[in-house]
Amino acid sequence: MALYAELHRHLGGSVVPRILWRYLQRNDSDLAQRFPAYPEFEDFYTRPRSTLDEYLELHTLVESVQTAEALPYFIYRLVRGAYIFENLAYLELRYTPFLRTPDHLTQSQRIDLMAEIVAIVGKASQLNEYPIVTSQILCMHSRLPYAVNRAIVDLAAQSREYVCAIDVAGGDNHYGERLDEFVELYAYARSLGLKTTGHLYETRDGAYPELLPYLMRIGHGIQIPLEHPHLLKEVAERGQCLEVCPTTYLQTGTLDDISQLKLVFDRCFDAGVDIAICTDNAGLHNVRLPFEYENLLTHNIIDFEQLQACQDAAFRHAFAWPYQQRPASLLNGLLKVESDRDSANAYEIAQR
Ligand SMILES: [Zn+2]
Repeated sequence: MALYAELHRHLGGSVVPRILWRYLQRNDSDLAQRFPAYPEFEDFYTRPRSTLDEYLELHTLVESVQTAEALPYFIYRLVRGAYIFENLAYLELRYTPFLRTPDHLTQSQRIDLMAEIVAIVGKASQLNEYPIVTSQILCMHSRLPYAVNRAIVDLAAQSREYVCAIDVAGGDNHYGERLDEFVELYAYARSLGLKTTGHLYETRDGAYPELLPYLMRIGHGIQIPLEHPHLLKEVAERGQCLEVCPTTYLQTGTLDDISQLKLVFDRCFDAGVDIAICTDNAGLHNVRLPFEYENLLTHNIIDFEQLQACQDAAFRHAFAWPYQQRPASLLNGLLKVESDRDSANAYEIAQR
């Protein structure tokens, strides 16, 4: 039995459209009036956008409803769905805590409230009936001022019970002018012993070689094998893992066709660079992790052996998975004892 690890999922994009629509209906929001019937809402919410910026606008919509009061409602449904439909044993959830605080407050009041948000998310993710190992990644944001991003790093360091790493998000074409700032913040995070990932090399405008050495994993990074393959050697040497989220690139207009991902996987396998397959925004895409796997197989981008290598890599690069092995190998022994005899018979039949 295979259980999976999900390393790249945004809290904002993790709400499946039906759950968001129901929430909006129940709370009588303006959007609910705009979309009185579900199918129109689903179409609006999940249709591909032409740029990453336009796509990220949708996060703003969800952030505005994911308040401290509403977060447990959404997280309960997220963890339940991940357990029942996705067979997740491990989930890293990422978000920008500042953007879950009320926007009428002052910046310093909002910074003060971030710790409460982290605790709410942490407690709401621990469900006895749907046990998944979860941890949080706190995202700095390209649209937020330095002081807020620095406070996010400090909060991550102070909240190790709930938080495993930091990230930078907000569109990889927007870091440019403030690159030195982000390099400094990542260096600071590493000095505090924090683990790191970052949205880089997602689009053609997201190439920042200066930031690369500070990352333990790379959020997306697909432009490295596609456009900057000379970097693969150093990425492999650093043991950095790419978090590849296949559906995203079609939803954001970054790729025209999923077949373009074949080069990403081929070049990474050849160079010895690990890839973890992730969903990014499973709700926004209405695509769950097992379907991302199946989709890559169906389109002959990877084979089963490569898929398993990626699934293994996800557990190996997980920032807070507490075991040496992935759960499949723990369960296999348990299930195998019962079925050894049967499988010998089945094998014989299959060979006929
Ligand atoms: Zn992302």
